[in-house]
Amino acid sequence: MISKKKALEMLDVIDDMFPDAECELRHENPFELTIAVLLSAQCTDKLVNKVTASLFEKYKTPEDYLAVELEELQDDIRSIGLYRNKSKNIRKLCASLLEKFDGKVPETHAELESLAGVGRKTANVVMSVAFGEPSLAVDTHVERVSKRLGICRYKDNVREVERKLTSIIPREQWTKSHHQLIFFGRYHCLAKKPKCSECPLLQDCREGQKRYRASLRESS
Ligand code: SF4
Repeated sequence: MISKKKALEMLDVIDDMFPDAECELRHENPFELTIAVLLSAQCTDKLVNKVTASLFEKYKTPEDYLAVELEELQDDIRSIGLYRNKSKNIRKLCASLLEKFDGKVPETHAELESLAGVGRKTANVVMSVAFGEPSLAVDTHVERVSKRLGICRYKDNVREVERKLTSIIPREQWTKSHHQLIFFGRYHCLAKKPKCSECPLLQDCREGQKRYRASLRESS
């Protein structure tokens, strides 16, 4: 693994590349954001935004999601992967919001994670984006990039990745770094075809070096 100093230098480069990174899930309030994050599992933000454009017109409160049959909600989000499970989770979430929090999205990690269908990643995103509490949610991009750069080990689980990143990055920068690592993974260090040949981190990146050497072998 690389040193804390080197990791911070790399994060500075990513900061320069994506200074304006932010949440790309469209939402008007904490409730819409929570629904959008639930829908975004294994799905692009772009597709989620396409679906929520009409979904949020039709469903504005937890009661609205529970007022229709499950099949109707499934039809409304059918273009999103795992729509059957996600429909059930949305309804469970809405029921527990009404039961425990008077229909409002709670503002603490513990309360958020007590809601049906809400895990640590969703709670972190809602806390940081909706309520301005520094959080570093580890999604697939954050995990992949942190491991490729050597900030974390490939065998680290999501919780360990979060622990390492939050121990290196100053707390007040957690939310910004979270968005920047997502942008870096989404638009530059892509899962299948990372842009190593044009990457400013290539020299220090173990994964990039490995790919670079492999490409040299292939071309010789
Ligand atoms: Fe990603 Fe390649 Fe850059 Fe490494 S060199 S961070 S693998 S794009």
